[in-house]
Amino acid sequence: MALSLSCCTSLYIHNQVRLSNHVNIKNNLKIVKNLVHSAGVPSIAIPPQESLQKGNWVKLICGASFEDVVDIRNLSLVYTLAGVDCIDCAADASVVSAVNEGIEAAMNIVPIRRPWVMISVNDDEDLHFRKAAFDPLDCPLDCSRPCEAVCPANAIVLNKGDSLEGGVINERCYGCGRCLPVCPYDKINAVTYLRDAVTTAQLVRRNDVDAIEIHTNGRQTDSFEEFWSGMGDSVSNLRLVAISVPDVGKATTTVMNTMFSIMRPNLSCYNLWQLDGRPMSGDIGRGATREVLAFAVHLAATEDRPPGFLQLAGGTNAQTVKGLKEHGLFQTRRNPDDGILTGEISNSCNSLIGGIAYGGYARKIVGRILRSMQSQHGLAYIEDCPAYLSEALREALALVGSVKCYVHPGIHQE
Ligand code: SF4
Ligand code: SF4
Repeated sequence: MALSLSCCTSLYIHNQVRLSNHVNIKNNLKIVKNLVHSAGVPSIAIPPQESLQKGNWVKLICGASFEDVVDIRNLSLVYTLAGVDCIDCAADASVVSAVNEGIEAAMNIVPIRRPWVMISVNDDEDLHFRKAAFDPLDCPLDCSRPCEAVCPANAIVLNKGDSLEGGVINERCYGCGRCLPVCPYDKINAVTYLRDAVTTAQLVRRNDVDAIEIHTNGRQTDSFEEFWSGMGDSVSNLRLVAISVPDVGKATTTVMNTMFSIMRPNLSCYNLWQLDGRPMSGDIGRGATREVLAFAVHLAATEDRPPGFLQLAGGTNAQTVKGLKEHGLFQTRRNPDDGILTGEISNSCNSLIGGIAYGGYARKIVGRILRSMQSQHGLAYIEDCPAYLSEALREALALVGSVKCYVHPGIHQE
């Protein structure tokens, strides 16, 4: 299924009335600059690869299927200011442009270093690459509409008239699947799609894409080999290749090693293994992070894993760092001689866990501020509403800062 938007962020927003008091905005942005500086966002200067080596890499996941360019642009701005190392988004030209717009806008406020932009693709059917779909005309008029209430992305909007009108807002649906089981009439379908290697290679050749993430099912490697080969020499443009793998038990490392041997001949950049715990669930509750922690413990204890950084995702939230600390895996390394874990990371070795990617949880804590801003100002640039930007930035700094160990009295860390 081809996924694209007809307009880019600028067009969306220029159609709205922009706030006029630019002098006040400029003055109020000083608060934002002070927040970034007083938090001591170290990533103002530290390159993303160094964060991976130190174990404090943070990636914002906008969502492999999330394509609301207005939200994506504002999320990218907020999390760039908070010092993330990478922003992961759908492999769609409009979405990539929106991410880069947000990054540029952040860099115009504070001269922070640019995070890498990563596009997410799949080599086979995958939960992250689907959209919910239903025909509201098929829905009973008296349905209590639990689908609307359960959607974390506000992607289902229904209006009651002589029949139900509206339905799924395609660009906002990111495929979490929560609406599917709650429909009492079984009216909702999941429409899956594949990102093709040729279109992906074209995107990778743009000068504003730095990294790619390939979602795999962790069981067989034929489709991965086909996708990798379809990318051709475009992979030489990349700074990082991430492979997302689920925990399939003992076979996990065997499959990882096979995929690494497929990539190795033309891999000329860093590589990373994204340990995908419980997909798209970090916003559900504290316990959602347990699966990815168990996966990290499993991989950390495995001797024959292939080269590459390890990074957590899938269910990650404010509890993830705490869980890593409890397992002795936070910013530690395994001494190659005696196998003992140590908190000291020297210049010559990498941390055991490179970092954490946050998706649904990161979008939730900032998203509620974006919703509140939109209810007051419509589809605005968040930097035009500095009070909202400050509030959003505090949330983002608390989350990113828990990995990067920012210290600031104004930032609440769990
Ligand atoms: S609940 Fe999830 S799958 Fe359903 S519409 Fe919302 S984002 Fe899409
Ligand atoms: S819950 Fe099912 S039947 Fe009810 S409005 Fe949603 S899709 Fe239609």
